[in-house]
Amino acid sequence: MKASIPLAAQEILSVFDHAGVEAWLVGGSVRDSLLGKKPDDLDLATAASPQQIQALFAHTIPTGARYGTITVLWKDTHAEITTFRKEQGTDDARHPQAVVFGGTIEEDLSRRDFTLNAMAWHPQRGILDPFGGQQDLQAGLLRAVGEPALRFQEDALRILRVYRFSSQLGFTIEPNTYAAARQSMALTAFLSGERIQAEWRKLLCGQHPALAFTPDLLQFWRELGFAFHLLAEKTARFDELPPTPTVRWGAFFYLMGLPLEEVGKRLHFSNQTKREIADLFRLLREPFLADKKALKKWLAVLPVHSLEQSLQIRTILLQENTAIARENLTAVLAYQEPYLVRHLALKGKELMALGFVGPACGEAQQLLLAHVLSFPEENTKERLKAFLRALPLS
Ligand code: ATP
Ligand code: MG
Repeated sequence: MKASIPLAAQEILSVFDHAGVEAWLVGGSVRDSLLGKKPDDLDLATAASPQQIQALFAHTIPTGARYGTITVLWKDTHAEITTFRKEQGTDDARHPQAVVFGGTIEEDLSRRDFTLNAMAWHPQRGILDPFGGQQDLQAGLLRAVGEPALRFQEDALRILRVYRFSSQLGFTIEPNTYAAARQSMALTAFLSGERIQAEWRKLLCGQHPALAFTPDLLQFWRELGFAFHLLAEKTARFDELPPTPTVRWGAFFYLMGLPLEEVGKRLHFSNQTKREIADLFRLLREPFLADKKALKKWLAVLPVHSLEQSLQIRTILLQENTAIARENLTAVLAYQEPYLVRHLALKGKELMALGFVGPACGEAQQLLLAHVLSFPEENTKERLKAFLRALPLS
């Protein structure tokens, strides 16, 4: 297979070459390069110690120096560079593996999760592929490196990762790896929220996220202790949703009927993520937004993108005819129809000058807003003044 390796990776590798220390591009960056995709991040492995790496490059961040990872800032990109590791068994079953430096590239690759992530590349030495990663890549197979059940026991995140890669790449999980992943699902209950969230986000934003509704992954939520009520008949077009995290998460929560607050806590969602999903969730439970006035009331309290995203979900996933709602939204925004007090043509000061002082000012604003929500063309100073004059005096 031919790889298109990013230039930055080649430049960083040549720094190691000049210093006479072994280094390779590894993991996801090799996989993506072989797939003809631009890798999201650059991973390198080297015989150099973290201190040596820091001495070789001008701009470094000790991201995980204890585990041997240094981030090198290079031009407009960055690379995670990790010292070769090997594992040392201990007698303590609860801490079976200690990481020690001083391994070889082969040992380093053998610690990686799947064959397609366990390849290394170097401009002169070519591809190092001890586990048949290229063959699996060509066959579209996800296969654990080594004994699958053991590898999943070592780190249960790999269970989620195998489904995540299957969603992203559309690959099949090799039968032994698949059986072990299913049997080991209970182990995922001990994973940290951040790690679960990151893998699920990538799974949901992949090309085949409907995988999320298969029995294996439904079991994941049970292992975490969450009850749900899946709207199975509505999942068919999930794959067609735009791959925006909020859209996919919002639709997922809607279909799964999972408790957002509790799941958000367990998965360590940021407040912003939680709010955005909650907004979408609220909109999806509302009746259809064909009424323009109702739409403007929503615009007054929720961001435009939430309305747009909810319409995408209604159109694509729920197969609703949203043409009128979409036209209304476009018109309200294009003609700047008023839906907030601050959109009123008559400002607070002007109302006060007209004698609306104290609470009367706020009341007048609410009356005006209610009026222009129905009659946006009335939002001129003159028309609003006329409207106020016509009010019965209380
Ligand atoms: P992405 O495209 O999402 O970055 P990735 O495979 O590059 O996917 P990273 O988290 O960047 O994932 O990890 C880089 C590499 O480190 C992987 O390709 C794999 O070789 C190894 N790796 C990552 N997580 C694990 C794990 N839990 N167990 C074993 N190896 C792992
Ligand atoms: Mg990566």
